[in-house]
Amino acid sequence: MDLQKDIQYIKGVGPARAKLFNRLGIHTAEDLLYFTPFRYEDRGNIRPIREISQNSGDTFQTVQGKVIATRVIITPRQRKKIFEATIADGSGYITAKWFNQAFLKEVLKKERQVVLSGHVRADQYGYGLYMDGPEFEIIDTEDGELIHTGRIVPIYHVTHGLTQKVVRSILKGVLDLYNRPEILSKELLEKYHLPAHREAIHNIHFPPEGSDIERLNKGDTRSHKRISFEEFLLLELGLAMKKSVVTKESGIVFNVDGPVIRRLHSRLPYKLTLSQQRVIDEIRGDMASPHPMNRLLQGDVGCGKTIVALTAMLIAVENGYQAVLMAPTEVLAEQHYRNISTYLDQLNITACLFTSGVKSKERGNLLQNISEGNVNIVIGTHALLEEGVMFKRLGFAVIDEQHKFGVLQRATLKKKGYNPDVLIMTATPIPRTLAMSVYGDLDLSVIGELPPGRIPVITRWLYGDRRREAYYIMQEELRKGRQVYVVYPLVEESEKVDLKGATEMAEKLQKSFPENRAGLLHGRIKSAQKEEIMGQFKRNEIQLLVSTTVVEVGVDVPNATVMIIEHAERFGLSQLHQLRGRVGRGGDKSYCLLLTSGGITEEGRRRLNTMERTNNGFEIAEEDLSIRGPGEFFGTRQSGIPELKVANILRDAKILEAAKKEAFEIVKKDPSLDKPEHGLLRHAMERKWRDKLELATI
Ligand code: ADP
Ligand code: MG
Repeated sequence: MDLQKDIQYIKGVGPARAKLFNRLGIHTAEDLLYFTPFRYEDRGNIRPIREISQNSGDTFQTVQGKVIATRVIITPRQRKKIFEATIADGSGYITAKWFNQAFLKEVLKKERQVVLSGHVRADQYGYGLYMDGPEFEIIDTEDGELIHTGRIVPIYHVTHGLTQKVVRSILKGVLDLYNRPEILSKELLEKYHLPAHREAIHNIHFPPEGSDIERLNKGDTRSHKRISFEEFLLLELGLAMKKSVVTKESGIVFNVDGPVIRRLHSRLPYKLTLSQQRVIDEIRGDMASPHPMNRLLQGDVGCGKTIVALTAMLIAVENGYQAVLMAPTEVLAEQHYRNISTYLDQLNITACLFTSGVKSKERGNLLQNISEGNVNIVIGTHALLEEGVMFKRLGFAVIDEQHKFGVLQRATLKKKGYNPDVLIMTATPIPRTLAMSVYGDLDLSVIGELPPGRIPVITRWLYGDRRREAYYIMQEELRKGRQVYVVYPLVEESEKVDLKGATEMAEKLQKSFPENRAGLLHGRIKSAQKEEIMGQFKRNEIQLLVSTTVVEVGVDVPNATVMIIEHAERFGLSQLHQLRGRVGRGGDKSYCLLLTSGGITEEGRRRLNTMERTNNGFEIAEEDLSIRGPGEFFGTRQSGIPELKVANILRDAKILEAAKKEAFEIVKKDPSLDKPEHGLLRHAMERKWRDKLELATI
């Protein structure tokens, strides 16, 4: 059986049904095998007809017997056809009725042995019980195994035009021919008490008698675990191999004991936290090593990642290399540039800003300075990834806000240097064990504390009349000389509406607070003007900044104490948390006010409640992960990891950890999986990762 066989050519499918399967994301025989039921129904427990009773709840009852009579009747009023079949099993008889399915008379013929499974209802005329449109299965034409009735039956997320029965029958056909060789070793199967692959796949679709239906519905059976384990193992094998390739490559050996660290740190107006110091030491360790660094730095919004990155960049510069910092938005890049520049003045180190907003004349100059090595530190956006950007001697790359960039972009930036060290920073932290597993090819550093003196931001979800509270708090804070952000979402389809909302709000606020100045910032404003407005806000010449999400990440104005978010229900959790992180930086009481109007989805409610409940980025990330599910959370496309079909990173975290351990163990003993006993495993791994693995060697 060829697993890559086009679904169309599988028995029972054909071109029309193939289209329907495609709609469900099923293109090959293999896709079909991994099309797992989303729930199961217990239609086992075949009972004597005499004993069945009218349904109390929605449970199915199942009987088996011979068809003794059939007829088609027409309802007097609606003129609908009803097919009726009466079956007997020796203990009694019962009639089943199907609306509008007169064709069944050709199928459920007299004398046939059948199993019926469905709801039992009381006849309105008081003649007794009947079965209401039950699922049926004819026994004498099947090859013995019941698949629709008389057992625990799988239920799939089908699409209009495909019935459960059709999917089940086609799947059964594929399963009967399925014979993929086992790729896990006997030792692994025994160690984790896992069934063979073929058995596991079969049992997921057609669970054996006596299976626990609750565990099936939760995806918590040995069969599910077995499939998840294999998926994770293949994922981790890829990551382990990537990592082993990188650790073998030779990179730059930096001298990390030069004077620049002390010179920089002695000029800071604060003391580094212990976490910051520890992470700097971890990075220095990597920089001193002869292999390229690939490190992920996780830390909550406002924990002070920038100074850590700057320290590392200066070490690179001190060693005669250039360093680059890539940020996801122009505003953030500008912000970094401004911040970092203030430290460089007396250090005799130069920096430049490179974004797509740079004018073409200046652009030429910049490109030349970068390629000739006249500039030490380059800060910019994804514009840095363009082909024209060439470095003289790039030794260190920082990527801020990892979630916004894909693996490919990381690789492109890296290629601009000779195996530079790479530091990836993210403010969307995920639990450590999870991070280690999902980003298994990266080393992980965590800044687990905020600088001292920070007071948790007070977060309130205000709706209806309570919106007025936002106004009072704003008034109060402005009176104290504080500054305020008002943020509007910018959703593409309603861009105009939202832009109008933001513009009107800016005007309204200006009228309400004539003694203060309001400013407006949105995506359509030219970048020079944007910078001007940000500068004015930073210098407190503007007190009220109304903006679309351009301030989403990284903006740093310690005097701002109020963050008002309009249509807060439209933002994702990590975005809300990022926005909240813009206030509470100055050690004063600060507010994050989440405004909503109108109906809110259950998920939206959960997000807003979470925001009110906690300020902790790790908790928020965990909640986010559980609301959105791992696929969405990691953005399968961007994360660069292969898609998981059955496994669930959250639910199966323990299995993931075990699989990771085993994968790294295997790669340690057999780095390229060359040993004959790993042949099948390697083949499966390569197929799963396809082209993605090549990124390892870039
Ligand atoms: P993030 O990790 O979100 O990128 P930043 O690096 O922008 O955070 O730092 C947030 C603010 O905290 C900045 O104003 C920075 O100067 C300040 N900061 C950083 N480290 C410390 C520290 N150890 N003590 C006090 N303030 C600090
Ligand atoms: Mg930051």
